[in-house]
Parts: sequence; C-alpha cells; structure tokens
Amino acid sequence: VFRARDERMLHMLPPAIALVFLVRAAVNFGQAWLGDSVGEGIAYDLRARLQDAVLRLPVSFFDRHASATIASRLASDVALVRQALTDGAASAIRDLTTLVVLLVVAVRLDSVLSAMAFVVLPAIVFPLQVLSRRLRSLSRRGLDRMGGLSALLLESVQGARVVKAFGMEEHERRRFERENRRLLALHLKAVRIGAFTVPMVEALAAVGIAAALAWGGASVFEGGRTAGGFLAFMTTLALIYEPFKKLTRTNNLVQAGLGAAERLFALLDEPAEAMGHGLVVQGLRHSIRLENVSFGYEGRPEVLHGIDLELRVGQVVALVGPSGGGKSTIADLLPRFHDPTRGRVLVDGLDARELDLASLRSLVAVVTQHTFLFHDTARANIAYGRPGASPEEVVAAARAAHAHDFVEALPRGYDTVVGEQGLQLSGGERQRLAIARALLKDAPVLVLDEATSALDSTSERLVQDALDTLVQGRTTLVIAHRLSTIRRADRILVVDGGRIVEQGTHEELLAAGGRYRALIEAEESGRRGAEHPPGAEGGSGQSAKADQPREAAAEARP
Ligand code: ADP
Ligand code: MG
Repeated sequence: VFRARDERMLHMLPPAIALVFLVRAAVNFGQAWLGDSVGEGIAYDLRARLQDAVLRLPVSFFDRHASATIASRLASDVALVRQALTDGAASAIRDLTTLVVLLVVAVRLDSVLSAMAFVVLPAIVFPLQVLSRRLRSLSRRGLDRMGGLSALLLESVQGARVVKAFGMEEHERRRFERENRRLLALHLKAVRIGAFTVPMVEALAAVGIAAALAWGGASVFEGGRTAGGFLAFMTTLALIYEPFKKLTRTNNLVQAGLGAAERLFALLDEPAEAMGHGLVVQGLRHSIRLENVSFGYEGRPEVLHGIDLELRVGQVVALVGPSGGGKSTIADLLPRFHDPTRGRVLVDGLDARELDLASLRSLVAVVTQHTFLFHDTARANIAYGRPGASPEEVVAAARAAHAHDFVEALPRGYDTVVGEQGLQLSGGERQRLAIARALLKDAPVLVLDEATSALDSTSERLVQDALDTLVQGRTTLVIAHRLSTIRRADRILVVDGGRIVEQGTHEELLAAGGRYRALIEAEESGRRGAEHPPGAEGGSGQSAKADQPREAAAEARP
C-alpha cells in the first residue's frame, strides 16, 4: 500500500478487517454455542441412559456395588466425557485444520527444510501414545477411587447415628483420609503426566526447529536460499507450534474423557435383567411351585438346597426358622429378583423364566422388613404401585394398614413429604405405609417377609388383623418373626440351612414335637421372660419410646 501509494487499497483494508473479525466473531459464537449445546445434549442423553441402565439392572448388581459409586458416574464421569467431546472436538477441528494448512504451507515454501523440521514428529508420537494410555487408565482409576470416596462419605451420612453413638468419628476420618490420600496420589500422577506432555513435545519440536535453523541459516549464507524465503519458512514453523501444543493439551483432556467413558459404558453394558420370554400372565389360577430349587448368590456357596414348595391359590403358606436359613431368599425367587441356579419356579405350571417379567411382577406384592420410602408425600408413597388411585382408595388402604390415623396427624396429612429428606417416621409407621402400598397394589399374590417386625405387639396385632382380611382371596407367602401370627396358616414350613426340614399345619407340627415345637416353646419362654423383665423401666429401646406418644395419640382418636 505505502510503496505503491495505493489509496484505494488503503480505504478497502479497514472495512475488510472489520468484516473478517465480524465473521470470525459470528463463527466463534456459533462454534461455542453449537459445541456446547451438542455437549449438553450428549450429557443429557448419557444421564438418561445411565438411569435407564440402572432401572434395568438385576437386583444382584446392587448387592455388589455401593450406591454412591453408581451415583458418582452421573456427575463426574458424564462431565468428563462431555468436556472431552465438546472441548476436544472443537480443538481437534480448529487446531488440526490450522496445523494441516500450515504444514502444507511449510512444505510448499521449503520441502527440504520441512523434512528436517518434521523428522522428529514420529519420535513424538510414540511417547505421547504411551503417556496417553497411562492418562486414560489413571483417569479411570481416579474415578473409581472417587466413587469409593463418595461411598465412604455417604456412609458417614447415612450411618451418622452409629458413628456418633460408637464415637467412631476419628476412625471414619482416618478411613476417609487414607482413601483421600490415595486419590490425591492418583490425581497428582495424572497431573504430572499432563504437565509433562506439553514440554516434552516442545523440547522435541525445538530439536527439529534448531536443525532447520542451522541448515537453512547456513544455506542462506552460502547463497542457496534467500533471506526472505528462509524467514517466511521459519515464521510458518513458529506458527505451527501453537496448534501443535494445543492439540497435545487436548489429547490429555480426551484421554481423561476416554477413561470416564470406559467406566460409563461398562455400566451401560452391564447385562440387564432377563425380561422373560414374553408369555403374559393375567392372574394366578392354580399355584406357584418351587420345584427342587437350589440357589447360591453369585460367587458364593449355595444357600438353598433342593427346595420343594407349593403355594396354592387362596392359601397362606408360612416360612419359619432361624435367621439366615434362607427364607427371604426363597421369597425373592417369586418376583424373580433372583433365578434359581437349579430347579424351576413354576407359575400355573409355566417356568417363571418364560413369563413376561413385568406381568409376573404385577402378580406379586411384597412387603419386607426393610421398608423404603421415597422422598415424596405420604399419599404418593402409598399410591406408588398405582399412581392413578383415587384419594378414597389411598385412604382405604391406609386404614386397612392402620396407617390412616398417624398419617392424618402429620403436619400436612397425606401431603406431608416423608422419606429420607422429609419427615422422619418411626420404624413401625414406615412399615405400615409399606403395607398400605402393597394393599393398594391389590396383587393376587402377597409376600410378607417379616412385614410387621418393626411394630410393637399392640400395633402388630392391629395390622395383623388387617393382613388377615387382606389375605382372604389372595395367595400369600408369609415369613413370620413372631410365630403367634402364623398359627392359622394353611401350611407351615420350617426352613433351616437352606432346606425345608419340617412341614404341616400348626397342630400337626406341634404334635410332631420337632423343630417347630421347639421354636414355639423358645418363643413362649422368651415372652414369659419379657413380661416380667428385670429392671424394665430403664431398658426400652429408643424406637419404641419414639413410637409410644404418637401411637397413644393415634389410638385415642375416635
Ligand atoms: P433368612 O431370611 O431366613 O434370615 P436369608 O434368605 O436372608 O435368610 O439368607 C440366607 C443366606 O443367604 C444367609 O446365609 C445370608 O448370609 C445369605 N445371603 C442373603 N442375602 C445375600 C446376598 N445378597 N448376597 C450373598 N449372600 C446373601
Ligand atoms: Mg429374612
């Protein structure tokens, strides 16, 4: 412009530059917006798939994995994958394009010097690959550890009462500290590698540049190259360096993301529950039968050995026996929480594995001693199995479970939020909500696994009455913790050591004078002892104490 005094060009340049930068701004905006919205979309999708996978996992999976380690994937893994995808993709596209264009320019400017400058490239690729692999595995292991750490923290939260009551704060602190240090060590290792890659690439690149400078500079002196041409080449080389460095950094990010992705997809690829072979059952006509069923939890010795059991429609079958005998395990086979390792579960003569899983489960309502309440209203918790239930139906179920009175007495009645973060209920109250929930599901088969274990004997009797009504016209498998509650069962099976050691009616078993009789006698002498306990005033448990005032209030209502 100045040498040629080209004024037209001078006038054209400023708007051209403004235009270029405007376009650049628009493109940058588009890139940031598109890149990030695609990234958010992917993260959304991954979260949805994660939840979906968790819902489809078999019960046995949750026995093997701490809940916090599963939950930790939702935040940390997804974030790393998302970052690798968006930042990684953007940088790869932008910097790779720049790099390739500059490489072409460099080669066209001076192919001999280019060859010299880039001969070190292969030497960079190999160590970079090794370090990348290390980074990926460190990322994966770091996330695993992070999951373990979340699990520890969660235990300190959920077990807060136990920790405090046993004065184990220091122990928990040390346990956490140990894991936390291990995580720090892993992260520091990753940081060291990450910090090492860029300077390593720089140093190796410098060797190439130095070689090109030495050779090229000499040839300028000897007259083989023009100073201008050489400078142009060296400038290009200097420009190449920036995108190259950025790509190295991006690679670190991508490797961390890949490590997270491996973990994430390992969970997504976990085999889902076997959904059955699609035979839809409407109801139970004849019986559910366990035919020579053996079962062992994954990687453990068998806990059930050749169980034969028939649950005829309309009958009440009770399982009794010492704890650890396998009663709950038997009950878990009905809704197919587990499948037998040998033998079959037959529903009206059809192998349960042939049946559509959802239809099989719709046949069975389960109440166990471990009640779970969702963080939702009392109403929603009761109507959990039947979201469309009318308010009247919910109240009727609550009444039958003797839950109505205490629910009404809650600050907002049926609309009170209960569950972990909501209003705390006593064990007995929780159990009654769970019973109401099962009643409302109105399934033909009822499984009661120590369903009244958290109740005091007065409310147990009341709930037992309700259950007795409920049992009519239904098929029930009941596991009792108090034998007095199952006297009227059609059949009583004594389960011990994974075997059925005795069976018959209450009278038959009493007359036989075997295990059942011994259990009954043990319970009765226990009760006699409990009626006149030495120093009964001081020793009552805290849950019973907490229960009493509310219980009394409930009973006093007309
Ligand atoms: P019960 O209900 O009669 O008290 P369970 O059916 O709960 O007995 O347990 C039977 C046996 O199976 C016990 O030895 C117990 O330790 C074992 N067991 C129960 N649940 C699991 C599990 N999820 N994983 C491994 N072993 C288990
Ligand atoms: Mg049990």
